Formats: sequence, C-alpha cells, structure tokens
Amino acid sequence: MRRHRDQVFAGGWEPIVDLATFYALAEALGDSKRRTVRRGIKRHLLTGIARCSLCGQGMGTRTPKPGGGVRYACVNAPGRKGCGRVTILAGPTEEIVERITAQSSRLIDCGLPIETVTTEAELSSLRTGRAEDQASLEQLARDHYSEHVISRAEFLAARMPLQERIAAAERLIDQAAMSRPEVCSEEVPTSQDSGESGIEERRRLITACLEKVLIRPAPRPGTRRFDPTRISVVSRAGEVLAVVQSATMAFELHDGDGNVRLAL
Ligand SMILES: [Zn+2]
Repeated sequence: MRRHRDQVFAGGWEPIVDLATFYALAEALGDSKRRTVRRGIKRHLLTGIARCSLCGQGMGTRTPKPGGGVRYACVNAPGRKGCGRVTILAGPTEEIVERITAQSSRLIDCGLPIETVTTEAELSSLRTGRAEDQASLEQLARDHYSEHVISRAEFLAARMPLQERIAAAERLIDQAAMSRPEVCSEEVPTSQDSGESGIEERRRLITACLEKVLIRPAPRPGTRRFDPTRISVVSRAGEVLAVVQSATMAFELHDGDGNVRLAL
C-alpha cells in the first residue's frame, strides 16, 4: 500500500501481510497504552537532575534490555548534546540520592563539625543567656548614664564581655537556624513511603536540597555492577559532596576536605 495526499492506494507489489492484519497492526501500534515512552512526561525521579560528569548534560533514561533495569544515560542522539559515555542503574541511584536528601538538614555547611550543631535544648539555653546578657547590658547603661553609680571606665570594662557573649550567642543561633531550613527537614519522605505516584513531589524535595547530582563514568567501560561511589551531589549552597566507601565497606558522603558529612 502507499499513501498519496491522505488517500491510500494498493501498491503494485506483493503484500507482506493481508489488509486486515495490516489495519489490526496499525491500530495496535497507535494505541497509546502500548507506547513505552510517554513523551513530555518526566517519568523518572532524576531525569534532568542527574548530570553527566564528563559533558555536564542532563541525563535521560534508557529502556532496559531484557533482564536489566532502567538506566540513566547521557544521551547522544539527534537533538541531544550528550557525550553518550555515561550510564548508571536508575533504581539504586535514586535510593542513594533520596537517602541524602532525607538527611539534608545536616548537610548545610555552617562552619561547624556535625557534633557541635546545636540541639533544641542548647538553642533555648543560648536564647535565655542572650536575653540575660542584654538585660545586664541595659542595667549597666542605667547604672552609668542615669544613676551614675559606676564610672565610665567601669562601664566600658563591664560592657565588653557582655557584648562579646551576646554576639557569640547570636552567631550560634543564626547558624542553627541556617542548618534547619524548613524545606529540608528530617521529615522528608523517602521513596519507600511516598510510592511512585508522588514523583513530582519527590523531585521538588530533591531540587530544594540539591542543585544537581553528578554521575561519573564507570572505571571500566561496560561494567554493569552498580557502584555508588560514581555519584556525587552539589548542595544548594554550592558544596560538592561525594559518595565514598569507608574502610568498613559502608557508604558515606564526604566533603572536599575528606570529612564525613553523612552516613548513607
Ligand atoms: Zn556526557
């Protein structure tokens, strides 16, 4: 058969399939339920968030070969500028990234090691201390300026440590507030409890915490085994953190100075 201006003519050649089979087949191929790639819908959690470390392009997905899992892939195809040299198994990559975002309130670089990040109790005692110091400072000013019970030298000497303590408390309170942004609280759901339906919601949680996820190529081309140490992330603060395997074979997230920032 051949088509000319929307009219179909019988071709002058021997048909491979009869007409009834042809139409049945055409209908089946055109059926949207049969399509395996839904255009325009981001079906995978890290599409566009995961980037190829070699060329920087956003990764798409590759339909699995029989027996294999879906893979994120740097796509080198017409209209896609990727280098085509990096692919990684999608499922376990998503799991690692969601484990990172679930704990990301501990990720923000506040210039303090994790152990010294203030707890709620410490924070409230810092606030009480600051209020007491501010009250003392006001009393001191009254003693000097209005009641004249202390000299200027005494006033200045007593004022200095109070001001320093207040400034230090304020720094710690600000840092604690910065390390607990609302969007990245500990209550971020993981893939286990939010299911597949909330994919856009899960994507929003990831992009709220991470600027991007970088995927390095496999050390040996063609390696199929999943290697989490090929994954690194860039936090919203611009910090690059890499997945590293510890001496005890556990996976950890390290910063550029080799400090352990999260256990994964
Ligand atoms: Zn690439």
